[in-house]
Amino acid sequence: MAVSSSTLDVTTMRSRLERLRAEADRAGVATLVVAPGSDLRYLTGIGGSSFERLTALVVPTDGSVAPVFVSPALEYAGLGHVPLADLGVEVRTWVDGEDPYSLALRGVPTGPVAVSDLLPALHLLRLRDAGAVDQQLAGPVLRELRMCKDDAELAELRAAGAAIDRVHARVGEWLRAGRTEAEVAADIAAAIVEEGHAVAEFVIVGSGPNGASPHHSVSDRVIEQGDLVVVDIGGPLPSGYNSDSTRTYAVGSPHEPDVTTAYAALQAAQRAAVDAVRPGVTCQDVDRAARGVLADAGLAEHFIHRTGHGIGLDVHEEPYVVEGNDLPLEPGMTFSIEPGVYLSGRWGARIEDIVAVTADGVERFNTRPTDLITL
Ligand code: ZN
Ligand code: ZN
Ligand code: ZN
Repeated sequence: MAVSSSTLDVTTMRSRLERLRAEADRAGVATLVVAPGSDLRYLTGIGGSSFERLTALVVPTDGSVAPVFVSPALEYAGLGHVPLADLGVEVRTWVDGEDPYSLALRGVPTGPVAVSDLLPALHLLRLRDAGAVDQQLAGPVLRELRMCKDDAELAELRAAGAAIDRVHARVGEWLRAGRTEAEVAADIAAAIVEEGHAVAEFVIVGSGPNGASPHHSVSDRVIEQGDLVVVDIGGPLPSGYNSDSTRTYAVGSPHEPDVTTAYAALQAAQRAAVDAVRPGVTCQDVDRAARGVLADAGLAEHFIHRTGHGIGLDVHEEPYVVEGNDLPLEPGMTFSIEPGVYLSGRWGARIEDIVAVTADGVERFNTRPTDLITL
């Protein structure tokens, strides 16, 4: 793992660890194994991702048994400043040739072990071989903590939204006929960093027929006069909290005849979904608000994905705004509202804002106009 860490105060870490144990207890889990990635970053501020050497925070649900941070000695060298001791976490380092799995499980209570959803299979299976046979996913436990953001997290997501809005405000500087999607994307990526992101995590520039493919990245297609261009961009601030926003641009007057009416329906659908957001409304209600408007416009079969996804330390996390998810919204939840219309082989459009559920309604973290932007 590439070692890094952001500052997270001890009080926050301690309360997150306590809540983690309470949720694990409620879920009937005896021990949690949290791997590098957003879960570990959320709990300790330690960044990076999992590689072949095991790094993990092992948290027994029983509060009388100390959590253990298992780390390769060469990685821990860069983590000495993380106040694990203040949290009552015991550090166990290991060197190549030793068995980190037995080290991780030494002294843990017997019972179900919940592991990070994205723990590599190579670690999962070796933990099983070392005695953690009753395995389950930790995602359902961690999502209870991570779905509702605290004020500091909301401030970071608000700042991320403002930063990506500043990039969208500048897209006209780079997007024009005669340039390739890749050329435009390179300029946008540089601006994403200039405006305060740690990295340009993703840059979708889908022009003309490529706009009809929602997760198109970029290509060497040359943008033509009259194209619609879907620009979906974002990335993490240095704190790890992400932006994600889409606007659709028209390079001159659109040459496809059905753009105006379909875009108007899309804009109304996106607004209806944003307006539907408040505590107690379910995730699927929000999806239905967008989908209903597009269905009324005869575009139901051209909206081919869910309305949105949660966002925080991960670009895509819970809650998912999708039919079948009857989870009620709570203040502090943050997610995208991003309906689209996709006319295969011809053109596509999408509008995406990040919103937060407030005590009595909704706050938009992206505040640029949602109109089709003609350049
Ligand atoms: Zn997406
Ligand atoms: Zn997006
Ligand atoms: Zn998104």
